[in-house]
Order: sequence, then C-alpha cells, then structure tokens
Amino acid sequence: MFIGHFGLGLATKKAAPKISLGTLLMATQFLDLVWPTLLLLHIETVAIHPGLSGPRSLEFTNYPITHSLLGAIGWSVLFGSIYWIFKKNSKNGILLGLAVLSHWFLDLIVHFHDLPLYPGSSIYLGLGAWASIWFTTLIEMALLITGIILYLQTIIFKNMTGKIVFALLIILLLLVQISSFWGPPPANVQVLAWSAQFQWLFVAMAYWVDNNTVNSQVPKYVLQPQ
Ligand SMILES: [Zn+2]
Repeated sequence: MFIGHFGLGLATKKAAPKISLGTLLMATQFLDLVWPTLLLLHIETVAIHPGLSGPRSLEFTNYPITHSLLGAIGWSVLFGSIYWIFKKNSKNGILLGLAVLSHWFLDLIVHFHDLPLYPGSSIYLGLGAWASIWFTTLIEMALLITGIILYLQTIIFKNMTGKIVFALLIILLLLVQISSFWGPPPANVQVLAWSAQFQWLFVAMAYWVDNNTVNSQVPKYVLQPQ
C-alpha cells in the first residue's frame, strides 16, 4: 500500500490538529521510510521480478524488522515515546503510536503472504488485495480522498504557498502510485531503495504545508496578519 497510508495520515489531522502534518505522514508511512535504509544496509531484502508487473514484480523476501507485527509494535512504541518525550502530550503520543501501527494493518489488506508475525516466525500474513490492481486502487483512493476531505475540514491555508505545496504533494503521491502499478519495475534493489528514500521528501513537504496552515477551529482574530 502507498497512498492509503498517506490518506490515513491526512485524516488523523482531524483527530489531532496540534500534530504537524509532517509528523503524521511520517508516522503512518514510518515502516516504509525505514525499509530502504535497511535494504541498503543488506539487513532486509527484496527480490525484483522484471517479468512480472505491478505489485507482483516485488517479492518481499525478508523484512522482519520493519514489517513483522512485532517489529511494527516496537516502532510504534518508539515513535510515540519519542514524541511524548519532546511534547509531553500523552494523548497525541499514543495516537502517533497507533498511526505507526496502522501501517502494518493496512499493508495486511494488500500484501500477499509475506508479513511475518515476528522476526523468525514462519507464519506469514497478507490478504492479497494486490491480486486485483483495480480493487487495490479503489481501497487506496478511498483512503486518500477521505483523508484529503477530513484534512481540508481541519485546516485553513494561510497563503498560496500552503495550497501549492499541498497540491504538489498530492500530485506527486498519485504519480508514484501510478508508476508503481503501471510503470516498469525498478532496475535493481539499489535503484528501488534510493527511490524509496525520496519518500522523506513527502514528509518534508508535509511539514512545509503545515507551516503554511492554521487549525480552522482557531478563533478568527488569531488568523489576522500581524
Ligand atoms: Zn509497508
């Protein structure tokens, strides 16, 4: 899953307007943000099947640290705790922890049987919605559109920069989704891992958007230019 995770991150802004959109998107996509680094370090592995198309071209041969259920729980506790240490807001810390964990459960819907329960486990899970690209696209688009609607109900753009960067972020996310389903498979694991590192750009863009928005619940006088 790709844009679905970002959709959930956008939607979470409604539940926790004080958390930056950058932090929210980092949380829901965190497992996939860590994954390329572990690929480059040869700690986790993936096999590319150039003869196959779309999601079938990638075989997630070993990724227990980022994508086992136990690993995901570990990352969520870590992420939520670090937020709590810095912001001292336990409600938002827990929410961010759950946002990190949501990644595993959303992946569960689409992945083939490749998500281990814990490192070393021989039980692999995945409901395999990827078998139908159109069904997966429907799920992911539903999540993204819901996320955008809830997000736009929660914030007001302060200026044109916020609107432009937000629009650009959504367009880039859609392009990545389209190319992963209908584009050619990556040439090799290095190319895949480095292109996956570009997802940090989306997180940075989300922080940028957040700096150019205000919570729509904030009284009007606060929105006056100073
Ligand atoms: Zn994932």
